[in-house]
Amino acid sequence: MKEKLYTIELTDAVKSGDECCFCWLERKMEQENLEFVLGSSYMESDVRDQTSLHGFCRHHTKMMYDYGNTLGNAWILKSRMEKVRTDLAERLGASEGIASGASVSSAGSKKGLAGKFKSLFSGTGRQVGSFSGVRSGKDSENSGCYICERMDEIYVRMLDTFAWMLEHDPEFGETLLKSKGFCLRHFEEAREVCERTLKPELWGEWEAKLNRLMLDNLDRVQEDVNWLIEKYDYRNKDADWRESRDAVPRAMQKLVGTHPADPVFRDRR
Ligand SMILES: [Zn+2]
Ligand SMILES: [Zn+2]
Repeated sequence: MKEKLYTIELTDAVKSGDECCFCWLERKMEQENLEFVLGSSYMESDVRDQTSLHGFCRHHTKMMYDYGNTLGNAWILKSRMEKVRTDLAERLGASEGIASGASVSSAGSKKGLAGKFKSLFSGTGRQVGSFSGVRSGKDSENSGCYICERMDEIYVRMLDTFAWMLEHDPEFGETLLKSKGFCLRHFEEAREVCERTLKPELWGEWEAKLNRLMLDNLDRVQEDVNWLIEKYDYRNKDADWRESRDAVPRAMQKLVGTHPADPVFRDRR
């Protein structure tokens, strides 16, 4: 593998105690990228050219607002809006139906118009991987995003590093098996890359181990959720909470790969 290996980051992630090592990495990367975008890079013309071109998805737009650098956001928006306004004017002008005021009532014209808007909102229109795909979910009109694309690039290399470490670093494998495993989303993606890149005999070994890790940890979180419900029964009011106090956000994370209990991420400078 020629690209950078994220061995240190992955080792930290499996030791983090998080319900999913990749969710933990994703959060770290996301915060670092937000700090990059709204740090001072928005004054660098090459970065601003890129943010103007791609824009940001709905999720990251909200994060940028919450982060709180008003001047930085204003600079980024200034350039992005200039680009969007130019594109929109061009596209609407190029549409004969709109320019001439002709009817757009036929199904074909409607579809054509919808297509124009869609391509405008989706930035470059590139279908990106896990982060933006999952982040934006059904909001595919928002799939073009500068932060999602930066994260996608790193994430692909992190997945490759993960498979590489299972093959080359026995200690990493042992730590992983003692960790809380993955959310469903990252489990599928980690499995896929391991199946594709590991030698068949090694994949045979790891497939069973990864499956066990996922299933055992889902069982554990299920028990926590079940007990949380039991705890609300008055007969259990004096019983121990066990591990159930934060079972709701942890179960949400296991299912969809998110940290719903996280505080808003703000500019810490
Ligand atoms: Zn995850
Ligand atoms: Zn995004």
